[in-house]
Amino acid sequence: MLAIHGGKPARENYLSYGKQWVDDNDIDSVIGILKSPYITQGPAIEEFEEKFARYVGVKYAVAFSNGTAALHGACHAAGVGEGDEVITSPITFAASANCSLYVGAKPVFADIHNDTYNINPEKIEEVISSKTKAIIPVDFTGQPAEMSSIKDIANKHNLVVIEDAAHSLGATYSGSKIGSLADMTMFSFHPVKHITTGEGGIIVTDSIEYAEKLRLFRSHGIIKNNFKEPWYYEMVDLGYNYRMTDVQAALGLSQIEKLEKFIELRREIAQCYNEAFAHLPGVIIPNQLDCTESSWHLYILRLDTHKLKVNRLEIFNALRAENIGVHVHYIPVYWHPYYEKLGYKKGLCPIAESWYEEIITLPIFPKMSQKDTDSVIEAVNKVIEFYQK
Ligand SMILES: *Cc1c(COP(=O)(O)O)cnc(C)c1O
Repeated sequence: MLAIHGGKPARENYLSYGKQWVDDNDIDSVIGILKSPYITQGPAIEEFEEKFARYVGVKYAVAFSNGTAALHGACHAAGVGEGDEVITSPITFAASANCSLYVGAKPVFADIHNDTYNINPEKIEEVISSKTKAIIPVDFTGQPAEMSSIKDIANKHNLVVIEDAAHSLGATYSGSKIGSLADMTMFSFHPVKHITTGEGGIIVTDSIEYAEKLRLFRSHGIIKNNFKEPWYYEMVDLGYNYRMTDVQAALGLSQIEKLEKFIELRREIAQCYNEAFAHLPGVIIPNQLDCTESSWHLYILRLDTHKLKVNRLEIFNALRAENIGVHVHYIPVYWHPYYEKLGYKKGLCPIAESWYEEIITLPIFPKMSQKDTDSVIEAVNKVIEFYQK
């Protein structure tokens, strides 16, 4: 019997959908900085930026206080402003669209593919106007968006591509590591992401112009070097205080050492889920393109509602009752009341909207044990079989 009907849950304690891996190595790294002369704006930031840029295979990396601030910086560096339009996916965290609003531009949503759940390049073409300035593709769940088509569209219309790679650190597209493809690429170091700095984010780019603009933007628009008087500095642009601290960078430096292992563990869990659910009637496993290698930030199970007696809410509640920390990623961004007030209407992206009704996120994070993974599989089998038609 299902736990929701008074039966015994698949596991005793609650398994969250994602969490960080912080070990003694990380703690030592942070303590080292706390004992050093600089706890913010010291040498650890630059060291982290260099190491990160090398990992991704780009020339420059500019660290920010969080991924959202980094996206704000990227929109500014790209020259996006008042009256411009920026195209992004409706299926993402709100920050991917909010960053356009921060600089006075209008987010425009292009519908997703029904199979990869990523933004559909054909839909991007349909919404391009004379006001379009940039595209912000999101590598949803860790599977890269179709970067080669997106870059072709951007070249044709002279647009800047800012990739939201908060989910796809370590993923590849046609053999290239994510971060090396777009004009600017953003990664987040929030604790549920691949590596963490507590809060933190970064932009990587091969353009020195973008890198310089980003550095100014994150530090009040102030320049300090190259003046005759040693105390002198000048504010040359309106900037923010969006700096990462050295304490955070120290954590990032030790985390990045473990990144390959983290990705490997995520891939193993995804593989277990795929094998377990590929032939389970009532669910659809995530489709992967041949040219992409996901880094599996999220694992999304789609419900084949025609084969089930109940809707998503009931499946969700039943899995929670089994102590599985399922979630839903994401509510279409323009459904939020704030966007509704701005004039966005339901029906804008029909594929994203109907897809949203059928999805459930299963737990996936490197610290999960085989027993944890098995308990998720057991719970899903139990609940789905119970509600099969
Ligand atoms: C996490 C996330 C962000 C924002 O990153 P923060 O570091 O939390 O500000 C942006 N976009 C997507 C898709 C994310 O998942």
